[in-house]
Amino acid sequence: MTPEQRRSYKYQQQRAHSAVAMAGANGDLIKQPCERCGLNAEAHHDDYRELLAVRWLCFNHHRQWHTTNGYAQYDETALPSDDFTVTDTLSFRLPERLVKRIDAQADKETRLRTNMVQVLLQEALDKRESETSKR
Ligand SMILES: [Zn+2]
Ligand SMILES: [Zn+2]
Repeated sequence: MTPEQRRSYKYQQQRAHSAVAMAGANGDLIKQPCERCGLNAEAHHDDYRELLAVRWLCFNHHRQWHTTNGYAQYDETALPSDDFTVTDTLSFRLPERLVKRIDAQADKETRLRTNMVQVLLQEALDKRESETSKR
């Protein structure tokens, strides 16, 4: 995988995981035991473009699937910037160099850009709160 493909893959992986988590919380998707052995399972996507088409595999069978089949299918051209920008969800514009730093951090933690911004904002708020309460 090229760095661009890797970035696209990670982005779609997280998007698919978010979709599963959301559908699970809504009761639209019911967690099942591992389809091979019946143990506690995690959701696996054969294809990240099919957000809710999952198979349920335990940790070991999930690893085995990827050893046999490699990466899940994905859209090589989709990137986070295609779906949204920071300014779509937050009503202020961040300086370019800050966006770059956020993207680098998001990449490291396999988060979406907006999610990374939320995490960083929350950390900053928590820090401020704890500093204020010390005074
Ligand atoms: Zn998988
Ligand atoms: Zn299993």
